[in-house]
Amino acid sequence: MATAQMDFLQNQLQVRKQRLEMVITETPDDTGLNALLREVDSALERLAAGTYGLCETCHDTIERDRLLADPLIRYCLDHLTRQERATLQRDLDLASEVQRGLLPPPGLKVDGWETSYHYAPLGPVSGDYCDLYPSGGQLYFMLGDVAGKGVAASMRMTQLHALFRSLIGMGLPLEEIVAHINRLLCDSGLAGQYATLVCGRARRGGEVEIFNAGHLPVIALQRGRVQLLESTGFPLGMFRDALFSAAHLELSCGDMLFLYTDGLSEARGESGEYGVERVTSLVSGQTTGCAAGVISACLEDLRGFAGATPGMDDLTLLAIQHAA
Ligand SMILES: [Zn+2]
Repeated sequence: MATAQMDFLQNQLQVRKQRLEMVITETPDDTGLNALLREVDSALERLAAGTYGLCETCHDTIERDRLLADPLIRYCLDHLTRQERATLQRDLDLASEVQRGLLPPPGLKVDGWETSYHYAPLGPVSGDYCDLYPSGGQLYFMLGDVAGKGVAASMRMTQLHALFRSLIGMGLPLEEIVAHINRLLCDSGLAGQYATLVCGRARRGGEVEIFNAGHLPVIALQRGRVQLLESTGFPLGMFRDALFSAAHLELSCGDMLFLYTDGLSEARGESGEYGVERVTSLVSGQTTGCAAGVISACLEDLRGFAGATPGMDDLTLLAIQHAA
């Protein structure tokens, strides 16, 4: 582990030691607190001896993120005690429930738009972000992918969810919202936790404004013709002063937008990678389909393509169709 992180952990342990000692002077007989203090002392001894951060069962390095979150842990993920395993599972189940609770209602129909989505985390939680948010007679839609996996990425996803919904609620122009969230992510000090993202605003009459910040191309199916809306900006959270520009579309009744994460385009099968081209040709064949029909056709094609090859990433698909 880097020296800076070791210094940080040593400091964290010292702070805990001081706090515990202060409380113990008031309640010297508290066995729980005394046991905690012994654990902190033992961690400080391991630091001095150079054995800190090594699993006590296999002597391999303990996962860095876990140590930074809890400097007292003594076992790697493979060698947790039964009780630690149960606690971790409960935390993950809860995080998963919280994340599911943030998803928009399935089959949402609102303000001249019909929608359908499929959200499938690889593990209990996901770094994929998917939201539909009607506000001021317009439908806002967001789909993104946070770099990295697991709990850290899922927390970034929940942050995006809250930021978009609160800024949309303030009635700001979408361009300002995107720029604002980009700066907030840059300032939050989690380097490397950027997010590729598509966000858009659909008006009742079919006008759509859409931003693609470093994400895969959005597929627009208009009067039977396919158009790819490629990325026009950097992912959010990468460059503080990045500019974002919108594409504008006029959708007629039956026209559709199809958004997806790399869990689809980078899915593997025996013949290689699924690829954006296959997504595009599949969607372009769905000229008479409804939003839900396109999602299920896509899932069926993916199942056929991947066969027995297991998915390697979170998978999110979103279809938005202009209805009368
Ligand atoms: Zn171990």
